[in-house]
Amino acid sequence: MVSARLLTTPPHLIGLDLGGTKLAGGVVTLEPDGAARLLIEERVPTPESSEALVSAMVGMVTHLIGASPHQPVSVGAGIAGHIGLDGVAVQAANTPMTVGVDLVTPLVEACSLPVRIDNDANVVALAAHRELAPTASALVAVTFGTGIGGGLVVGGELWRGAAGLAGEPGHMIVAAGGPKCRCGQRGCWEAVASGNALGAAARRAVAAGGAPLLAARATAAGRLEGREVTEGVKAGDDDARRVWHEWTGWVAVGLANLIQVIDPDVIVLGGGVSAMGDLLLDSVRDHLQGMALALDARRLSLVCAPGGPAAGVVGAALAGWTGC
Ligand SMILES: [Zn+2]
Repeated sequence: MVSARLLTTPPHLIGLDLGGTKLAGGVVTLEPDGAARLLIEERVPTPESSEALVSAMVGMVTHLIGASPHQPVSVGAGIAGHIGLDGVAVQAANTPMTVGVDLVTPLVEACSLPVRIDNDANVVALAAHRELAPTASALVAVTFGTGIGGGLVVGGELWRGAAGLAGEPGHMIVAAGGPKCRCGQRGCWEAVASGNALGAAARRAVAAGGAPLLAARATAAGRLEGREVTEGVKAGDDDARRVWHEWTGWVAVGLANLIQVIDPDVIVLGGGVSAMGDLLLDSVRDHLQGMALALDARRLSLVCAPGGPAAGVVGAALAGWTGC
């Protein structure tokens, strides 16, 4: 009985996804057909101090273990920022409280499970490679949230670079002298094409006085962020569509640069905006036609990340399992 039950119970994995605005966590199962399934998800605002972050991560993992129907076997965490090979952040514009902080040890001590911490987009790239494109020769994952993260899987392995800091395109400069980025530079890709930049573009449109439909959405919601724009796009608002078209153009600028350098066969788009599906993919493809040379000769597939908005949690859980 016991062995039969063990054989039929898929591994339960814990994933954490830390971004600039939220810490999300969940329990993910790896089904017999290889698909990952999110059973439980919870989220809290990103704590501001290192001490509060350690406490929140330990508390979330402890709670998820208690809530999981079966004992989890591993913990994976994805963190926005440059994460060194030892799992410690060395630079993180949107999660500065992680820099230099050992998050692995307190998690291991709290849950007695193997813990792996990596860049948030690296784990999305690994999960996408496993779930969507196991034969891809070069897969690029880009996540859009508070900032922009990136992960690169070449020949089935994460391309980490000399110090483990490769594949971070958010701070490529795509608009020299452009808007100030949280890293201190001007014109970084994430300053014009992150989820936050989408909200900022909408607020500029309203401030300029030419976007009454977005202004009405801002009044109704009490805020104007990327979410209000995507809701407007889905509803067919012209104002929102104009802002969306401009923003997806900036998304395409960065992708075109990555395409020229890497020639990937798969690009995976993650983060909250990936819930837009074809509305995102079609618009970006249209822009790319005028930006990426020899696009028709490439074998490029542009897709949204598995797990949709929860791709970060699912990817972290799978990366933690892979790392066992
Ligand atoms: Zn920057």
